[in-house]
Amino acid sequence: MSGQLFIISAPSGAGKSTILTAVGKRVSGLGYSISHTTRKPRGDERNGVDYHFVDDRTFTKMINEGAFVEWAKVYDNFYGTSSSNLQDQTSSGLDVLMDVDIQGGQNIKDRFPDSVLIFLLPPSLEELERRLRERGTDNEPVIRARMESAADDIKNCVWYDYIIVNDKLEKAIDEAQSIIVSKRCATARQLPESKKLFDI
Ligand code: ADP
Ligand code: 5GP
Repeated sequence: MSGQLFIISAPSGAGKSTILTAVGKRVSGLGYSISHTTRKPRGDERNGVDYHFVDDRTFTKMINEGAFVEWAKVYDNFYGTSSSNLQDQTSSGLDVLMDVDIQGGQNIKDRFPDSVLIFLLPPSLEELERRLRERGTDNEPVIRARMESAADDIKNCVWYDYIIVNDKLEKAIDEAQSIIVSKRCATARQLPESKKLFDI
């Protein structure tokens, strides 16, 4: 694979989708890994854009066929990254943004050690709950379940490469963009092109 994988994890409601959408508009050459999920679409989510929404049977069939690079059960639903989707993008040179939970982050890092792992923290658990409610896409039991696991989820930030605190949205978007741009300037990445220009 030639493109770099950028994994972003966070408790639900911390702002992953908001930040990834904004970064995707600002930074060129980025792809987005569209996961498969058995969760029902919420709000104005579109099939094939936000997720590939599939039923349990289709998801199980894909597991059995080895179609996923990684998959996990998160909050009672299945989520997975399909190998073909990822390979199409990275082999065409795109750096790929991936929104996966902490199990997915661990699995991708094990499989692709060069991946860059970014953990997005909310400024507080109270603000996380406020954002989940304000988003207005989850019912009360779902919000309760997500808040119950949030404190434990957050503990996993210790083994991520980067932490972004999403207090001020613009600052958080800037930080995500900076991480991507700095990785693109890494010597290992620049050297092949630089060697074409100079006798290095
Ligand atoms: P996630 O993808 O992590 O579940 P979302 O991107 O859907 O989270 O964000 C959850 C809610 O919080 C949305 O309504 C979004 O507009 C809002 N939000 C995101 N970042 C901020 C921020 N920095 N300040 C205030 N609200 C935010
Ligand atoms: P949501 O239902 O809020 O869109 O996502 C719930 C959780 O599933 C989030 O933590 C999100 O990062 C995670 N998720 C989304 N797609 C994938 C995936 O393909 N693999 C894994 N492991 N987690 C995913």
